[in-house]
Amino acid sequence: MIKAEIIAVGAELTSGQCLDTNSAWLANRLDDLGIDVRFHTTIADDLADNVAAFRLASERVELVLVSGGLGPTQDDLTREALARAAGVELVRDPRAEADLIAFFARRNRPIPERNFVQTFIPNGGEILSNPIGTAPGIWFRLGRARFACMPGVPNELKMMFIEQVVPHIKGLTGDSARVVVRRKINTFGKGESEIEADALDLTARGRVPEVGITASEATISFRIAASGSTEAEAREALQPTVDLIYRRFGDWIIGEDDEDVQHALARELIARGATIALAESCTGGLISHMLTSLAGSSAYFPGGVVSYSNEAKVDLLGVPRETIETKGAVSDETARAMAIGVRDRFHADLGLSVTGVAGPSGGTVEKPVGLVYLGLAHARGVESRRLELGPEQPRSTIQRRASKHAINWTRLYLRA
Ligand code: AMP
Ligand code: MG
Repeated sequence: MIKAEIIAVGAELTSGQCLDTNSAWLANRLDDLGIDVRFHTTIADDLADNVAAFRLASERVELVLVSGGLGPTQDDLTREALARAAGVELVRDPRAEADLIAFFARRNRPIPERNFVQTFIPNGGEILSNPIGTAPGIWFRLGRARFACMPGVPNELKMMFIEQVVPHIKGLTGDSARVVVRRKINTFGKGESEIEADALDLTARGRVPEVGITASEATISFRIAASGSTEAEAREALQPTVDLIYRRFGDWIIGEDDEDVQHALARELIARGATIALAESCTGGLISHMLTSLAGSSAYFPGGVVSYSNEAKVDLLGVPRETIETKGAVSDETARAMAIGVRDRFHADLGLSVTGVAGPSGGTVEKPVGLVYLGLAHARGVESRRLELGPEQPRSTIQRRASKHAINWTRLYLRA
């Protein structure tokens, strides 16, 4: 397997002023090509540092992708650094010069003198033409490594990579090219360490295919990657591991790729022809938004109420005033009454409610920030659940977690 390094050049990157999106994009493309990205390097616009970084890369990988530093200004040093690292001269490239003249001619503009530096490349290199900008790229051999230098402007880099660098890379990999196939399987309801504890055989180092676990907003995902000489072969290598994960974690699985709890709930509702109405207090309509973000949600979502004040809970949902006065707005009893009220008013099969303390203020010893009650009313009655999402969590996290737990709880109710 070919090993690669990605080098992003620019003081705007090292200072944090510009986010290095090129490296992530390039790493994904190399991954698709079955190339093993071992290093990411980010360097400022300094000649000596660039020379050192290029030398180091040429000693540890076979393919180096460089982004940035090909512009016409003083701080664009990639050409010169590459020539110095290799100990060769910069030479004028006639094709680069013709491209530059044509670029300005198409715009009826004179060529700024400075732009001519962009027609120089290290001796022995090959230019990669840039139809949408002035900076040509460079394909160059340094030691046993091949370098592809591309402009930092993301559109130009992408076009050059796809149209010109990929064919060069395919020339390197030849018959040994591998196809990589990936799946991302998402779970909700168990913590990352709990999932990992039940998956130690899957995540063991060196296992084929490889399985990784990642977490994002309490959704825990398995990422599986397998390679083969054809796509069919890679898929075949992947499938037994996918099947194993589904067998072992079936109840917790909510979908694949970008699917989350709302997709899983929508599937359960559609399968049963059931509808759900929402009474949201601390989530302020977030659950309604998550459901209505899915196309076709009118089939199961008649509507909801953002009953934020006590008055709204009483007037719009029929929560008894004395329940709120004696038990509080954030209580098991209020959550149940909200769920019953909203199910009734929308003539829905299910009524789901959320009431809690989202913080950062408003918490007490008995009712700390992060305390949330859920209510679920259905044809056979009403049930409730208490969540403690953590007093240290920011408001937005508590709102999102409460929403996801409420949706997942309803999904599990439907499945049971
Ligand atoms: P350069 O080719 O170094 O002159 O970069 C030109 C412009 O492209 C910079 O001013 C940034 O706005 C953008 N750019 C450079 N490098 C990156 C990168 N790694 N990721 C995203 N944008 C970049
Ligand atoms: Mg730059």
